[in-house]
Amino acid sequence: MSRFWSAVVHGLTPYVPGEQPKLDNLVKLNTNEHPCGPSPKVLEAIRAATGDGLRLYPDPNADALKAALARHHGVRPEQIFVGNGSDEVLAHAFMALLKHERALWFPDITYSFYPVYCGLYDIQPRIVPLAEDFSIRVEDYLPRGDERAGAIIFPNPNAPTGRLLALAEVERIVAANPEAVVLVDEAYVDFGGDSAIALVDRHPNLLVTRTFSKSRALAGLRVGYAVGDAALIEALERVKNSFNSYPLDRLAIAGAVASVEDEDYFRASCAQVIETRARLVADLQALGFEVLPSAANFIFARHPTRDGAELTAELRRRAIIVRHFKAARIDQFMRITVGTDAQCAILVAALREILAG
Ligand code: PMP
Repeated sequence: MSRFWSAVVHGLTPYVPGEQPKLDNLVKLNTNEHPCGPSPKVLEAIRAATGDGLRLYPDPNADALKAALARHHGVRPEQIFVGNGSDEVLAHAFMALLKHERALWFPDITYSFYPVYCGLYDIQPRIVPLAEDFSIRVEDYLPRGDERAGAIIFPNPNAPTGRLLALAEVERIVAANPEAVVLVDEAYVDFGGDSAIALVDRHPNLLVTRTFSKSRALAGLRVGYAVGDAALIEALERVKNSFNSYPLDRLAIAGAVASVEDEDYFRASCAQVIETRARLVADLQALGFEVLPSAANFIFARHPTRDGAELTAELRRRAIIVRHFKAARIDQFMRITVGTDAQCAILVAALREILAG
């Protein structure tokens, strides 16, 4: 702590350092990375980009990536913003689009960065509780008389619950709040949801964020993007350009383009995670766990008689790391990333042993 710190800094808690431990041989199932590597074409493209080109600045517009993403999603390049991971894209969106006189509405159980960004950018949050079954209740996001949102944000599927809101329900929220930006954070949508990108041409208030960190197995490259009406994208570009006019480095652009162009690898590697997820859910249910329905590359599970923190600590002693959130309503749960089949088998065997002990 320093007397030079501003009030904002005093209120911040650094990212839990224990989530990225520097140890070998861990079964690491705590931060939702993809268990398979990225497409071999990504590695080739990055290698090819490491030559003399690194002497030169990258393209300040990342045009090649915007063009590849525009083709992939069937939108125009002006409808795409790219940044260093979706966390950066979200940070810019909070600043450029989600700060209004009225509050920003989001669920009580959701991505933990949203309240952090509210603190950083002095945004008034309004926390909307999830339903009893941990789903988002559309009715809670519809305006009631004079009571309406300044903006709305939620992940779909939600994190850490993994629960999906059907696209028609997402559209009801977007359509009912035409004066508010609705940001749908689709970090995990490729593992079982329909993307709201299909709706952006009908709704100028809808912004969708995506990441290369999960379904494209490129968390280390730091690439994320947003898709929406060109006017929303322009607001993000204005904020971004006032910091640093190079959205991504040369290696990130080259790798991300190659990933988007290798559709077959992408589909097959997501399908593999979905298959492993079904087996993991069945194995945990057989051990007595309740598992919420997941459309993500993680599952959220609780045991009826064992404490989530205690199980997490027992697993950690066996070099298996999963995520526990010390928060109201979800203290009993563990969030477990869907790893390889071999990693999931190790996890299930360890839990069987712990529960028997
Ligand atoms: N949104 C959600 C819901 C997430 O869980 C994450 C990953 N922690 C992110 C965004 C950010 O991912 P990245 O910055 O790696 O794109």
